[in-house]
Amino acid sequence: MTRISESELVLPSLYLIYLNGGKITMAELIPLLTNIMKPTGRDLEIIANRNDTYFSQKVRNLKSHKTLEKSKYVIYDGLYFHLTSLGKSFINENISTIQYLFNSSFEYEDITTACKYISKGSKRKIICYDEFITEGTTTIKEQKIHIRSQKLRDIAIEHFSHNNIISCDCCGFEFKSAYGPKYGVDCIEIHHLKPIFTYDDDDITKTIDEALSNLLPVCPNCHRVIHKHRITPELLPDFKNEINLNRIIL
Ligand SMILES: [Zn+2]
Ligand SMILES: [Zn+2]
Repeated sequence: MTRISESELVLPSLYLIYLNGGKITMAELIPLLTNIMKPTGRDLEIIANRNDTYFSQKVRNLKSHKTLEKSKYVIYDGLYFHLTSLGKSFINENISTIQYLFNSSFEYEDITTACKYISKGSKRKIICYDEFITEGTTTIKEQKIHIRSQKLRDIAIEHFSHNNIISCDCCGFEFKSAYGPKYGVDCIEIHHLKPIFTYDDDDITKTIDEALSNLLPVCPNCHRVIHKHRITPELLPDFKNEINLNRIIL
C-alpha cells in the first residue's frame, strides 16, 4: 500500500486553495484534503493519544515544515495559505489534469502515484479525457493530449465492441437495440478505472495496452452514478450486484 508523502500533498493542496478562492486555513484544508484524497490503510489510522490520523498529521506538517512555501507556489501569513502568482499560473496550466485526477473516482493509491509523477515533473503525462471533463483553454499542449484521448476513445470502443455491438459493462444497456442503428451510435462513454499515463512519446503501443486494461465502457446513467458516488474500482462488483438485485425486484 502506497502511503502519501508530504511533497505529494502539495498538488492537491494547491488545487484546494485555488478552489477556495486563493486562500485557505489549516483547519479548512485538513477535511477538504481528506475528502478529495480519500486516504486508506495506515494513513487513515489515528495516531495513539492524538486527535490526528497519520494523514492529517502529514497535512499539519505542511505548515511546520513549510513544505507548501518551499514550492514557491504558496505563502503563509500566519492564518491563511495564499496562492502566489506563480502558484496560480501553475494551476491554470495543469487544471484539466488536476480536475481529472481528483474528480474521477480513482483509488487513493492511484492518486498518490499520479501526484508523485506530476510533482516530480515526470515525462509521463496523464491522458485526461473523461466525458465529464469540459475542454479547457486550447493551448497546444492540451490539444495534443485531447487528440491522444480521442484516439484512445476510438481504440477503446473498437476493443470493447463485439460484432459491432458495445454495451454498458455495469447494467448491460446497449444503445443500438434501444435507439436503433441511426441514433444508437457514439453514445457509450468510457470510464477510467485508473489514471491513464503516456509512456515516452514513442511507446504508444505500451500506452494503449496499459490504458485498455484500465478502461470500461459504460452508459451515461451508470457513469453518472459512478462519479456521483465515487465508486472506486474496488466497489464496482458491489455496484453491479446492486443493479442486479434491483432488476430482480422490478
Ligand atoms: Zn449502465
Ligand atoms: Zn468516468
